[in-house]
Amino acid sequence: MNSEEIFALTENFIAPTYKRFPVAFSRGAGVKLWDAEGNEYLDCLAGIAVCNLGHCHPRVSAAIAAQASQLMHVSNLYHIEFQARLAKILCELSFADKVFFCNSGAEANEAAIKLARRYGHEVLGEGAKRIITMHRSFHGRTMATITATGQKKVQTGYQPLLEGFDYVPFNDIEAVAAAITEKTCAVLVEPVQGEGGVILPAVDYLNRLRGLCDERKILLILDEVQTGVGRTGTFFAHQHSAIVPDIMTAAKALGNGFPIGAMLASDRVMHYFGPGSHGSTFGGNPLASAAALATLETLRDEKIVDRVIQTGTFLKVGLERLKQQFPEIIGDIRGLGLMFGIDLKDVPVAEVVGACLERRLLVGSAGDNTLRFTPPLIIDKSEIETMLQILTEVLKDVKSGQP
Ligand SMILES: *Cc1c(COP(=O)(O)O)cnc(C)c1O
Repeated sequence: MNSEEIFALTENFIAPTYKRFPVAFSRGAGVKLWDAEGNEYLDCLAGIAVCNLGHCHPRVSAAIAAQASQLMHVSNLYHIEFQARLAKILCELSFADKVFFCNSGAEANEAAIKLARRYGHEVLGEGAKRIITMHRSFHGRTMATITATGQKKVQTGYQPLLEGFDYVPFNDIEAVAAAITEKTCAVLVEPVQGEGGVILPAVDYLNRLRGLCDERKILLILDEVQTGVGRTGTFFAHQHSAIVPDIMTAAKALGNGFPIGAMLASDRVMHYFGPGSHGSTFGGNPLASAAALATLETLRDEKIVDRVIQTGTFLKVGLERLKQQFPEIIGDIRGLGLMFGIDLKDVPVAEVVGACLERRLLVGSAGDNTLRFTPPLIIDKSEIETMLQILTEVLKDVKSGQP
């Protein structure tokens, strides 16, 4: 099918929940994508922080192909070798003792919310079910996770929302302290806010949150759905600090594009999820687990995460140079590892994203008016230079009023 035919088919048969750019990709390799006509694109979004090893990493593709003809699915009523091996490596890479598998970030957060409520119920007392979340957070699109999300735009039209969430500004430790009551069981926070606009935690914020949760005997839940799996230069973003959470969620890059989510916890907490307390038909099935295991083993064996900081610094220097060149367009630049946001002044981010796409560069948007970069972690310096070159041309056009 050619692109025009694909667009028409989408228009006719796909629910209009996304405003799609006029492009349909048919092939990917590393940092490159090709559309139906064979045009080549440079992907600096990676499916929004999903394809951290790049598109169709041979090791992941081979693991999926092998498992697809060996055994795709059995129920969680039975033991699944790759699921158990995947859980073991996730525990080795994190604070966790046990893992629950599901299929997406929202589902992982659902599991975390359920576990925290269960813990509150069993440990803190009947009514201790409330969870504190942050303004501008993003936790998913299910009913519980849009309620947890501190952004009106994802909640509009879906009331009544779930009971039991309280919202405070991100990076405001006093506000959290003031919001905790005897009804609170947990605080849920992204270590770096992604969809909110790539907002970094203040120095010591996570440490102080951990201290506060310990003092008030409530759980700290970290949503590492976007920041996890090497994105920020440590395997999980909170590992830049000295703290560990009680519960953590991961998804996006976990299967390098194969859908899988995970909710990780210490034994002390996971212990409250007994047989029958939660479940998932597909969660951690043989195919998904084989994909994720190959992803994690590749990241670990090839020491991919070790070079994220260096590549990220190179990108940051380039972006700062761009800011000097276009001070009237570029505002604040924020980032950690290979997760970057650039605030745009006056010019709408959608216009810049569209102009980049016309020049065959994929970037994203976040927050109110922030350009977002989450390239594959395997991106090299020459590819970053190409990206900066294209961005320079786009900003020149924007400046002269002809994007
Ligand atoms: C993307 C995202 C989610 C939702 O993940 P889905 O797989 O789309 O359900 C949750 N939390 C954060 C921080 C995310 O970035």
